[in-house]
Amino acid sequence: MPIATISPQLPAAPPRLRITDVECHTLLAPDFDPGFTSSAQDSFVVVIRTGEGVYGVGECDANPWMAKACVEAPGTHTMGLSLRELLIGADPFAIGELWRRSYIGSALTGRRGMVIHALSAVEMALWDLCGKAVGEPVHALLGGATRDHIVPYASLQPAGASFEAYRDALCASAERAVALGFRAIKTEVTMNGPYAHDGMRESYDRHTEALAAVRRTIGPDIALMVDVQYLWDDADTCLAVIADWAEFNCFFLETPIWSDNLDEIAKVAERAPMPIAFGEWLTTRWEFAQLMDVGGVQVAQPDVGRVGGIGEARIVCDMAKERGIRIVPHCWKTGISISATAHLAFVTDHCPFIEYLPPQLCHERLRRELAAEELVLRPDGTIPLPTKPGLGVEVDWDVVARYEVD
Ligand SMILES: [Mg+2]
Repeated sequence: MPIATISPQLPAAPPRLRITDVECHTLLAPDFDPGFTSSAQDSFVVVIRTGEGVYGVGECDANPWMAKACVEAPGTHTMGLSLRELLIGADPFAIGELWRRSYIGSALTGRRGMVIHALSAVEMALWDLCGKAVGEPVHALLGGATRDHIVPYASLQPAGASFEAYRDALCASAERAVALGFRAIKTEVTMNGPYAHDGMRESYDRHTEALAAVRRTIGPDIALMVDVQYLWDDADTCLAVIADWAEFNCFFLETPIWSDNLDEIAKVAERAPMPIAFGEWLTTRWEFAQLMDVGGVQVAQPDVGRVGGIGEARIVCDMAKERGIRIVPHCWKTGISISATAHLAFVTDHCPFIEYLPPQLCHERLRRELAAEELVLRPDGTIPLPTKPGLGVEVDWDVVARYEVD
């Protein structure tokens, strides 16, 4: 059976364009800290150019040097073709066909993981390019927006090395997010486990205490999500702790168990007192099928810059809808990826929130400086429909030059 893909829906025949160049940019914030659990300290940006001067920009959330190699490596046989060589000379409007050829042509090395992350940046750039070429926003090319606003949730970051400092930093950040107008926030509560903040080793009771403090700070009316970043090894330990979390009325609990441990995930999803969310690491519709059908999660979190691009994320959204599962996309990156996420959300009715890293609250300078998005947070906590062509982002090319690394 041929692999279904998604291409732009256009009201008229598009202009004839040919791809002439695929530029890769590896970016790293000079103040990056490898001890942080924050992938927004680097970026991989792809610029796809045409002979006619129209270009598109895409980004993925993965190690930028590895992503660059995935795009630029020369092809050596039919199961190991070069993504870059596949694109040069091609029609950029054939996004679905280019995705299929890239996926099949790189399968010996790719199929999942890094190559698919890199392909996500390429595919995102093609959507931006096509939108700009016909003067339409990406949501229009995806079939047209089905809603006039979306709701972002603010992703909060901790600070400090003691329990008290960690808890207080989250509460302070939550307070600021609510003051900025956010109606939903996600707090990290990760003071133990494989991605513990700053090497902390706090008890699970203290995780409960920190979550309680954040809920107290924001009051009962703001939606609250919690991310524990693969804290527990098994369902029973996890369930014993989160039984006490029912009173915090969490919209979801993100990644409580190691991502590959689908049987344990399924046990948690069945018995937890709140919906369970997973998907930030996953690539392709096939990994999401397993997550939904074996893992039994209630919320799927495809990341447009990791899952395989905007089209692959759309396919995952459709699969979730068929199964009655909600979509809350993951996105921990610059305005390029946040915009791509927003365009997807405008055509996805079962997407109550999108992840949004507020530039005012984050220390990641690439998020603050690399790209200005068209998205505006209104006082009621919603984002209205974007109207600019493509993804609607303005990249600051001086910033690209400043943070480019070899
Ligand atoms: Mg997460």
